[in-house]
Amino acid sequence: METQALRAHTHFTDFLKPQQVVADLKAKDKVEAIEELLDVLVKQKVLANKKAVLTRIVDRENLESTAIGEGVALPHARMDAGGEIAVAVGRSEKGIDFEAHDGQKVHLVILVVWNPQLPGLFNHLFAGLARFLIRPENRQRLFQAKDKAQLFEILGEIELKLMQEEKIAHRAGVLRKLQEIEVKRKKATKEHQKELHKHAAMIREELDQSLLARFDKLMERYGFAVADVVEGVCQGCNINLSTQMYSAIEGSNDIYVCENCGKFLVSPRKKKK
Ligand SMILES: [Zn+2]
Repeated sequence: METQALRAHTHFTDFLKPQQVVADLKAKDKVEAIEELLDVLVKQKVLANKKAVLTRIVDRENLESTAIGEGVALPHARMDAGGEIAVAVGRSEKGIDFEAHDGQKVHLVILVVWNPQLPGLFNHLFAGLARFLIRPENRQRLFQAKDKAQLFEILGEIELKLMQEEKIAHRAGVLRKLQEIEVKRKKATKEHQKELHKHAAMIREELDQSLLARFDKLMERYGFAVADVVEGVCQGCNINLSTQMYSAIEGSNDIYVCENCGKFLVSPRKKKK
């Protein structure tokens, strides 16, 4: 987890120059938004291989939306783009459809490309961003900042201190997707397996080792690792959760662990239309 980059940086803007902030995205859809932000990074010379990065980010986006709800999306890719990390932030007044689970349009796009040699970097960034963005007043200030300078100033308030319990915050959708892929892999044809393996690898490199170890153990033992919570009952073992835990899980994208069966507890996903 500890890397050179993390020790040296404590604020989100340590990874961001004002020139990497776009106050008024012209993009009308998510691919255009990603491309617009990549162009900014190329211009700032922090990203070299735009085409490859764009493909990778769009592939990842299609696998599982990186919209975290409430008008924010974090498209990302773990690949070598020429440096340790490349970050760009774009705001859209009209909003862009990122197929968010809450159905809301995205007004703030934070794009992150980080080097595979820094495995913990994204979780570290993600935890800091999530902790800041969960507060409605912070989101509103970002959505309504009057210009690039003000937007950058607010982004400068985001601190990157990683707390233990936040390691698995806001990743329920990602873990659920991994399970979906692993279940499919068992029944897939050889050719399809290859593709599924690629998808699984893309998701795995975003998650902590300890979480993946638990996930694999559960998959091996039960054939599944992620359990929905329906009306306060863990669907993995049919045991009632405490009211406190249930209310924390309901509607959230955080991951909890069932005290009885040890499976990852998540809030059921709303059916897509
Ligand atoms: Zn359980």
